[in-house]
Amino acid sequence: MSNFKRGNSNGFRGQNRNRYQSRGRFRNPGLDMNPLMFVRKAENFVETSYTPVNSFTDFPIDETVRKNVLSRGYDKPTAIQDQAILPMLKGRDLVGIADTGTGKTAAFLLPLITKVARDRNQKVLIVTPTRELAAQIQDEFKRFSAGMNMYSTLCIGGASINVQFRELERRPNFVIGTPGRIMDLENRRRLNLRQYQNVVLDEVDRMLDMGFINDIREIVSLLPQDRQSLFFSATLPDKIKAVMQSFLVNPVMVQVKTGTTAQNVDQDIIRTRGRDKVEILHQLLIKQEFSKVLVFGRTKWGVNKLEINLVRRGFKIASIHGNKSQGQRTRALKQLKNDEVQVLLATDVASRGIDVQDITHVINYDVPESYDDYVHRIGRTGRAGKKGVALTFID
Ligand code: AMP
Repeated sequence: MSNFKRGNSNGFRGQNRNRYQSRGRFRNPGLDMNPLMFVRKAENFVETSYTPVNSFTDFPIDETVRKNVLSRGYDKPTAIQDQAILPMLKGRDLVGIADTGTGKTAAFLLPLITKVARDRNQKVLIVTPTRELAAQIQDEFKRFSAGMNMYSTLCIGGASINVQFRELERRPNFVIGTPGRIMDLENRRRLNLRQYQNVVLDEVDRMLDMGFINDIREIVSLLPQDRQSLFFSATLPDKIKAVMQSFLVNPVMVQVKTGTTAQNVDQDIIRTRGRDKVEILHQLLIKQEFSKVLVFGRTKWGVNKLEINLVRRGFKIASIHGNKSQGQRTRALKQLKNDEVQVLLATDVASRGIDVQDITHVINYDVPESYDDYVHRIGRTGRAGKKGVALTFID
C-alpha cells in the first residue's frame, strides 16, 4: 500500500489518492478493501526525524529575523520550513498541505517578514478560520519581527472594532484576521484589500467547513491580481481544489505529515460479525469511561437513523451533518463540550471544525472512506496530551 506511505516529500499525496480512487478502490468502503489496514498503518506510524537540506543560518532571510529565530531556540527547519521558505522568498505562490504542529506558521512568516523588511510598501493579509488561530499567528509574528519596527493588526470578531479602526490608521504591514471581520472592515472602508500584494489563507479546509466560502471568494476577488498567494490546508478535497485553482498561479506544492497521528490514541477494532451494530454501540456507551464520545457515520441518512435509535434507548445525543445549519452545529458542539450530551454523531464533512479537547472515544460506526479520513477522525481524541481511544466497527 505504498499510496499510504506517510513521509516528508515534495510530492502531492492527493494525486496518489485520486489515482487509486479512480480505480474504485475506496468507493465501497468495507467491501473491496481491508479496513484493518487503516488501524495497523496508524499504529505503525512512527515519526521519523526529518533531515532538512537547509539551515536557518543559510536561508537568505533578513538578519534580524534570523537572530529572532535562533534566539527562540529553533536549531533546524521543520519539513515544511525546509521545503517552502526558499520558493516563497523567490516570490512563488505556494500550497502547503500541513496541519498545525508542523511549523507552518514560521514557514510563511519568515519569508513574508523578510519581504516587508526589504520593501516597506509591502502589505500582508493573513486570513484564518478562528480568532484563536489569528491571535496565535500574531504572537508568532511579534516574536519573529522583534526589533524591526514592523506592526500588525488583529482583525477578529468579538474584539472592539473601534480599536481595530485606530490600529489600521497606523498602516500596519500585517493584517491578521477572520473572514467576517475582514469583510466588515473592508465594507466600512477601513481596510483596503486592493493594497494587499501578499495573502495567506490558513487552514482553508476549516474555513470552508465553517461556512466562510463566500467571504473567502469576496476577499480574494478584491485583492490585486498581481500578488503572492499562499494557501495552507490540512486536507485537499475537491471543493478546496476549486478554491485553490482560482486563487493561485502556478503554485509550488509542499506536503508534510502532521506528526500528531495516533501517538496519544489507542486504536482497536470491534468485529461486528453480522450482529446488530446499534446494540454493540449501546453496550459500549453504558460503560462509565465512555463519557464524551464522537461517533462517525458515513451518510446523513445513517446518522439520522442512528440518532433516533439511540435517543429511543435513552442516550443523550447531538448530531452534526451536512443538512444542519451552522447554528445547529455550533449548538451541538457546545452541548458536547458542556457535557449536556454524552455522544455526538457526525459525518466526515461536518467533523472538520470539531475542536473539543477532551473527547474520550472516537467510534467509527462506519468505516471511513480513506486513510486521510481515518486519521482525521481519530485525531479528534487524544488531544492536549490526553490519552484517547479510537474503535472501528468492522464486519
Ligand atoms: P505551527 O505548526 O506553526 O502551529 O507550529 C507548531 C509549534 O512548533 C510552535 O510551537 C512553534 O513555535 C514550533 N516550531 C516551529 N518551527 C520550529 C522549529 N524549526 N524548531 C522548533 N520548533 C518549531
